[in-house]
Amino acid sequence: MIQKDIIINGSTKIYGLIGNPVSHTLSPTIHNTTAKIFGHNIAYIPLHVENDNLQKAIEGAYALNIQGLNVTVPYKTQVMKYLYALDKTAETVGAVNTLKYTDNGYVGYNTDYTGLKRVFGIRNISFNNKTVVILGAGGAAYAVAAMAADFSPNKIIIVNRTLENSLKLISHMKRFYDVKIEAMDYNELDSIDEKQIVIQTTSIGLKSDDENSPIKKDSFFKNVDVALDIIYKKGKTRFLQQAEKAECTCIDGFDMLVYQGLDAYEIWQQIKIDSDIAQKILESVKI
Ligand code: NDP
Repeated sequence: MIQKDIIINGSTKIYGLIGNPVSHTLSPTIHNTTAKIFGHNIAYIPLHVENDNLQKAIEGAYALNIQGLNVTVPYKTQVMKYLYALDKTAETVGAVNTLKYTDNGYVGYNTDYTGLKRVFGIRNISFNNKTVVILGAGGAAYAVAAMAADFSPNKIIIVNRTLENSLKLISHMKRFYDVKIEAMDYNELDSIDEKQIVIQTTSIGLKSDDENSPIKKDSFFKNVDVALDIIYKKGKTRFLQQAEKAECTCIDGFDMLVYQGLDAYEIWQQIKIDSDIAQKILESVKI
């Protein structure tokens, strides 16, 4: 049975999102909706943290008995040094987006990685004999590369404006995965002739009025089976519009966002959210 409203009382457990900025986040809607469905006495709030205050924020949150935190831009790697321990997901990805309170301190997890894995798993998308092209090499690309490696594609190609950042990501991946992975420049994209799954992780197209795409030539999509843009916003990004025109299977970042939230919720409450309830939550928070 769904509770009508969240009632905050002396037993309410507090969860939240730390980042800068946090004002446009959908995470409170996802978590508070899920809490209503399960009748859990929790409240999830956005917590803006200024750039020099991360350590104080983590120590303060722990002192205040905050039971769990999600972490967003720009703190997903910086936060790691303030944690008691890392779960395997956070260690292999090299970034943390979820903290769980324990008696010894917070433990870090990465549910961007598990959430995205669910997005591909639910759709039964095969990576067999495919090349995965990842556009971008920022924080989110680490979770995407680890997820892709788990599906054993032929090869992973990292395409990024700054080569140095691609090389850092590749070197991190080589520590944990036995996968063929290389860097490529945007100018060389037309040279790939294998079937591809392309995952767009740059921040291009994020703002509502940003009509740019990292892909300049539509012809790039000729060998693309699946195009996923991890950006979520109302309406399609230019990247997905290009992919749709080329009749690729197109996926936006909304499902990933919801599943990373549900995976964090499962970790915090030690429950399993079945696929029907997950679908119901997904539909009820849709923007
Ligand atoms: P970062 O700031 O760490 O990385 C940004 C990336 O975008 C870098 O690779 C950067 O390249 C590239 N980039 C930015 N501007 C340009 C440009 N003008 N031309 C070419 N490349 C550019 O951000 P994150 O990786 O943490 O996040 C990226 C996006 O993913 C955000 O929009 C975020 O909202 C979204 N996201 C969505 C999630 C979901 O659940 N759906 C989860 C996590 C993130 P360079 O290295 O050269 O600077």
